[in-house]
Amino acid sequence: MERPATLALVDTFGRVATDLRVSLTDRCNLRCTYCMPAEGLDWMPGEQILTDGELVRLMGIAVTHLGITDIRLTGGEPLLRPGLEGLIAQITALRPRPRVAMTTNGIGLAKRAGALAAAGLNRINVSLDTIDRDVFIKLALRDRLAHVLDGLAAAHSAGLAPIKINSVLMRGVNDHEAVALLRFALAHDYRLRFIEQMPLDAQHGWNRAEMVTAAEILEQLRAEFTLTPSIEPRGGAPAERWLVDGGPGEVGVIGSVTRPFCAACDRTRLTADGAVRSCLFSNEETDLRALLRGGASDDQIADTWRDVMWGKLAGHEIDADGFVQPLRPMSAIGG
Ligand code: SAM
Repeated sequence: MERPATLALVDTFGRVATDLRVSLTDRCNLRCTYCMPAEGLDWMPGEQILTDGELVRLMGIAVTHLGITDIRLTGGEPLLRPGLEGLIAQITALRPRPRVAMTTNGIGLAKRAGALAAAGLNRINVSLDTIDRDVFIKLALRDRLAHVLDGLAAAHSAGLAPIKINSVLMRGVNDHEAVALLRFALAHDYRLRFIEQMPLDAQHGWNRAEMVTAAEILEQLRAEFTLTPSIEPRGGAPAERWLVDGGPGEVGVIGSVTRPFCAACDRTRLTADGAVRSCLFSNEETDLRALLRGGASDDQIADTWRDVMWGKLAGHEIDADGFVQPLRPMSAIGG
């Protein structure tokens, strides 16, 4: 099938990508065991990482040529990127102005939330898998729970609302905490999202049989709360949402494995070293950095990006026999 002449990022299944996930670094200061080995990884060499100028040029192409309306900054840990506030100010100066969100582990956010909001950051997701210090140390291999909680509070004070929390439950580690995490989130006006653990860890330790499923999480929550399906349209959002005890508090579950939402996916992804991917689970990616550094025009880069998205597959097939985990781990793609 021939790609239509539209400027947008369309694929052969009729989806249109309007949400760009950009990884700012592959480095992280936690070692969550479902994501990264204790010793860390071989980080990308500095010269391979896109400069701020290169990133802003690509995001500019995305918003002016390709119809991207939402940009989410991620990593690795995006707060580790030097000059992040300045970079956000440049992104929010693009026209049409994209909505800019960030996914972070929250470490260091306590001091920076105000400056990030002032730079134009609209929203934030903070990853928090436990509210128990000992469990945090076991899961993330660092004693940083207090820093994350301080970061969340600072983000709230800075008005980065609604603040979402991402939680991954691991069997035998923190899977007893679903109810406690939801009580914590409701008490602080944070919106909790549970994410099913995905096969994206560098150590390839994911095991389908061990995974805590969306159904199990909902069962735990229903033992303590009344959950009513949210009537707000889901659109391309990955989370299925429920009102808790009649609302207004709510909870979401992202069942990437058992309840995939690929048919409504509106995402395209850019890695810190300039590869564009049509899916978190793609086995193929296209190097835009070589084009940038080779002197390609904005139109050429935009057209290459369209070609990549035109080739997007129907779904990731994680739950199917023969699924092949992508070569890059989550931390090097951008979660
Ligand atoms: N460092 C930032 C953070 O902690 O949010 C951003 C990057 S992190 C890769 C983004 C999200 O991916 C986090 O919420 C993390 O819990 C989640 N994540 C990482 N590995 C995962 C996996 N194997 N399955 C499901 N979620 C995962």
